[in-house]
Amino acid sequence: MAERYLDAGPAILEIDRLTVGYRTQAGWHRAVRDVSIQLRPGETCGLVGESGSGKTTLALAVMGYLPRGGAVLGGTIRFDGRDLGRFTRKEMRRLWGSEMAMVPQDPLSSLNPSLRIGEQIAEGLRHHLALGRAAAEQRTLELLDMVRIADRRRVAASYPHQISGGMQQRVLIAMALSTEPKLLVLDEPTTSLDATTQATILDLVRDLMEEQRAAVLYVTHNLGVVARICRRVAVLYAGELVEEAPTRAIYRQPLFPYTQGLWDSVPRLGESKTRVRLRPIEGRIPSAGELPSGCIFRARCPIAIDVCATHPALYAPSPERSTRCHRWEDIRSGRADPRQPAAAQESPAAPAGEAREAVSQWLFEVPYGALSQEQ
Ligand code: ADP
Ligand code: MG
Repeated sequence: MAERYLDAGPAILEIDRLTVGYRTQAGWHRAVRDVSIQLRPGETCGLVGESGSGKTTLALAVMGYLPRGGAVLGGTIRFDGRDLGRFTRKEMRRLWGSEMAMVPQDPLSSLNPSLRIGEQIAEGLRHHLALGRAAAEQRTLELLDMVRIADRRRVAASYPHQISGGMQQRVLIAMALSTEPKLLVLDEPTTSLDATTQATILDLVRDLMEEQRAAVLYVTHNLGVVARICRRVAVLYAGELVEEAPTRAIYRQPLFPYTQGLWDSVPRLGESKTRVRLRPIEGRIPSAGELPSGCIFRARCPIAIDVCATHPALYAPSPERSTRCHRWEDIRSGRADPRQPAAAQESPAAPAGEAREAVSQWLFEVPYGALSQEQ
């Protein structure tokens, strides 16, 4: 399924050992540390982690759009072979309007409340693509079509607050895609929407990406959302990349306990609509000044042992995946159960497979069994 989006060839985005910090009174707070991620054209990568794990910071660094006080402290970001660290503000601005685009989390805050939807899209087109008035209006309607807005003339004539959250999100996606960017960064774009609208938007994004062959970095705290549209997943925890793998591999067996916890906290929509269960990860993400030594997840980890007091390298269980867990071999062989105690208690005999059978219906629209046989 998702594999068909992947092109061979050089990466369009190469994040190499990136460290990003915010200046605070106590010194630099390094919100993203030593993270490497690559994306090829047409590839969709999910960036997952709880609130505070550094997802937005990473996304903004890629866009060259860090807020005041934020700075790249180490590593490089290369886009289409060019080192973005060497770009001037003006050169970055040119990239935003043409080769890279971002859809931020809150649609209303990104739309101008006093301009009709059609006017704002057309204004962008005139500015970035130098289209004339009539051509921009025509293209605006085509773009609204593209994001499957049926009554496009009514929407074009509306002000942002007059349309639903799902519609606002479609409009932002249309605006982001209007210049046919090579890289699209979406930061939790569906978080505020209900489950059905979320699924519709996610399918839309997936289809558009396939049509446009853009590379996508899809930021979310919900691993289920990623599973629906991304071929690959990178998991961030407290600023560190802790696991990266093809979505299907993560789906079958996460090799970092935090990823397992994220899986167990995906709402099991398939189980029963009235009985959605969440299995939260116990404890909380370490805050700025209190980064522990050793494995960053140790304090919350159900399988931490002595060796976890040393900082783990990024191990490579296979050419396609990496994990920062010292005990990945024990997890893989079943000697260690990385599930949080609550989740483990619910189904002591059957590991995650059974619950995933249900959730897979929503995520992949195919039975879990079919998935496990595929690779
Ligand atoms: P996420 O998007 O995963 O929720 P963020 O990238 O927003 O995470 O935040 C990562 C860390 O950086 C958090 O500890 C947060 O408090 C800190 N942070 C984010 N933005 C700023 C800022 N503008 N100034 C200082 N610290 C910030
Ligand atoms: Mg965020």
